[in-house]
Amino acid sequence: MKNVVLLGSTGSIGTSTLKVAEDLPDRIRLLGLAAGNNVQLLSEQSRRHRPRAVSVTAPARAGELRALLGPETEVFSGSEGLLRLATLPEADIVLIAIVGTAGLQPALAAIRAGKDIAVASKEILVMAGETVMAEAQRHGVRVLAVDSEHSAIFQCLDGKPTRSVRRLWLTASGGPFRRTPKQEFAHITVERALQHPSWVMGRKVTIDSATLFNKGLEMIEARWLFNIEINRVQVIVHPQSVVHSMVEFVDGSIIAQLSSPDMCLPIQYALTYPERAGSDRVQTHLAKLGTLTFEEPDLERFPALGLARRAGDVGGTLPAVLNAANEVAVDAFCERRIQFEQISQCVARAMHAHRVVAHPTLEQILEADAWARTQAKP
Ligand code: NDP
Repeated sequence: MKNVVLLGSTGSIGTSTLKVAEDLPDRIRLLGLAAGNNVQLLSEQSRRHRPRAVSVTAPARAGELRALLGPETEVFSGSEGLLRLATLPEADIVLIAIVGTAGLQPALAAIRAGKDIAVASKEILVMAGETVMAEAQRHGVRVLAVDSEHSAIFQCLDGKPTRSVRRLWLTASGGPFRRTPKQEFAHITVERALQHPSWVMGRKVTIDSATLFNKGLEMIEARWLFNIEINRVQVIVHPQSVVHSMVEFVDGSIIAQLSSPDMCLPIQYALTYPERAGSDRVQTHLAKLGTLTFEEPDLERFPALGLARRAGDVGGTLPAVLNAANEVAVDAFCERRIQFEQISQCVARAMHAHRVVAHPTLEQILEADAWARTQAKP
């Protein structure tokens, strides 16, 4: 039985994690649940799973939750609440699925308290991969991937050292604009960008999948998770989203992980690792799928990949700048203040203007994040 703390329980990854916990009641106990503002859903989840503690963003809503949940559940709030949950003494693993940067400090607190972490929130490793991985090593805890691509690579590597790897291949669906000509990019609406061809996800990650910034962030994450230079992390477009990623070994052999797209599978693998638990949830019918195809990404129509490669290569505070500028630009696009193509232009501008700090402290990373948010404002 693993005691799991779930930060971001009301989101897309969060609700899939609850399904996994319901599939495996003998293996997974939800010890703590944290949400942002969706108090209604959090209280429903809490009545069903009876966690020991919960947290919401606004302190004013905590009283409301206390009244709904009664005395058995401790109720916390704000960033302090996330830290309390991430360090609950009985917790074995903390799954971080908060959109944005609010998951970084709880991730570090969990590691320092000796907990394994399962990372969905890309921001954590993109902003502070060097610090997070060094702290995890120092405290002897695991950093497990929840993202389907990194989970796939982890499964394919199966403990092999980086020196036996030629390249990591991250697959990308290509998003809704894989075939859209560049001249039509100016007419892309928010509604169209939110229609992902193969995955149902939160708003930010769906827009990132349309620009391919999602894949760019994943390249940087992979660089840290698997301790490999970014020039050995490649992206290939695979519209069926069945091959979740691949490892090409030094002898030329390529090992891939396949399954029909369902986030419950990588979530379950992270929460039950190193074991595999039986579940009928994911069924993959290869004969029905028939064809799996692969193509080169178009770096001209999707500048995000080149920007992410540069940020990953230069390192220091530059990935934090890329991440923050992208967040600001995605918000501006969703509020119809900028066009689709301007998202990557905002990011490029902020990266160009940034004075990189090499091997930054957490404080310097957070400063770079704040700087980029002002700089990227359209
Ligand atoms: P959603 O937008 O669906 O959910 C975000 C969650 O974060 C919600 O539970 C929200 O709470 C919570 N939240 C936001 N801010 C705070 C805060 N300050 N404190 C506590 N909770 C907060 O996002 P997704 O589930 O899609 O994605 C979560 C993360 O996982 C992202 O970083 C994404 O890139 C990554 N990811 C997602 C994948 C997917 O398939 N969805 C795949 C791989 C990675 P509330 O709704 O109550 O306000």
